[in-house]
Amino acid sequence: MIFCKLVTVFSPRDKRQALPEYRKWTNNTMNYFYAENLRMDLKSSKLKKLKSLISAFEMRAMFRDAFNYLSSHSCLKFNYDEHAKSSVKINLGNDCWSFYGMRDEQQDLFFAYNCAAFGVALHEVMHALGFAHSQARTDRDEYIVVDSNNHNDRIENTANLVPFDYGSVMLYARELVVFQMEYVLIVSFSDTKWPIDQEYNYTMGSLRVAFYDMILLNEFYECNCDNHPTKLECKNGGYQNPANCNECLCTDGFGGQLCDKLVGTVLEASTEWNSSGLRIWNKKGIEINTMPVHHFFHVTFIFQAPEGSTIEVRITKLYGFYCHDFCDYNGVELKYKTDRRIVSPLVCCDNDNLWNTTRSSTNNPFVIVKYGDNRTPIFEFEYRYVPGNSTVSEVTNEITPN
Ligand SMILES: [Zn+2]
Repeated sequence: MIFCKLVTVFSPRDKRQALPEYRKWTNNTMNYFYAENLRMDLKSSKLKKLKSLISAFEMRAMFRDAFNYLSSHSCLKFNYDEHAKSSVKINLGNDCWSFYGMRDEQQDLFFAYNCAAFGVALHEVMHALGFAHSQARTDRDEYIVVDSNNHNDRIENTANLVPFDYGSVMLYARELVVFQMEYVLIVSFSDTKWPIDQEYNYTMGSLRVAFYDMILLNEFYECNCDNHPTKLECKNGGYQNPANCNECLCTDGFGGQLCDKLVGTVLEASTEWNSSGLRIWNKKGIEINTMPVHHFFHVTFIFQAPEGSTIEVRITKLYGFYCHDFCDYNGVELKYKTDRRIVSPLVCCDNDNLWNTTRSSTNNPFVIVKYGDNRTPIFEFEYRYVPGNSTVSEVTNEITPN
């Protein structure tokens, strides 16, 4: 996470996927409260502070959304309590960082204008719950090359409870360079990292919460439905939701109680290439670098073909997308990996080497997701099916869950 990265200039404390030596929150409940500088009341404050007050309000909304997301995908609870012995004090600061795990005291978590986004708020709360960066995992050298002396990039003693996922919200972007802040000594260093699977060049540094991120959380905190009287047979990679055992949590493109319903625009593939897509003509697209502050808006397309065939999809046009070094603000995911839970390579630029690459998969239906906000107005693709299972070699880089 690039933003959390800024922490390293100031603080040696942001370090540690699941970290067994750090403490989990008692009763799966994290206490938290807002520091004075994030609590300002609009009515009692002066007009000149209006701008920051609105921002403080928006920042609280990001944490509210992060807590809602986490508590609706796990057995974790979040309790506002400024008097609890162990409690996370969320401060407005100059950068974004957090301690790891529960401590026997009030512990700081800092959040700042330059890193304020829903995905970063959730990332920092994950640290406070006891999770490290993905680049700190003991198995990280199998997936990324790290050339860095930064403490944030050191391998930690992690419990790798889920496969390494290049789309994790806990993984920093590739080739990061940390710039010095305005009022500290010139601390100019670069600590770079890049994916061994180069197709994930634009995927690292995601602000989306990956499906495996929540499985990691649930495994570590032992959130499950083992004691629930009803066992649900969740389909398509889904699993019984620890927050509500009467439903399944589903991978992209699926819904309903058992994840057996298609959610999105369903297209029937034929053996000829067909084209389709999304066009919002009255939108101009993202023209400036504006951070996605809220949870992403998703548009999903689902391709179906006769059983046992291979579906092929390629992107033919992206217009209005914000394209830079990685697809954190918006992008398209062609979910061709056999494991529907894992993030497939993300595309947001029509000049990278993934552009117009045809993705084949025996996943049927085949799902693609566009994420970002509704200012990414045009996205087109072509699709067809090839009879038979012709892509066995395409999925050999599948990561096997451990
Ligand atoms: Zn971090």
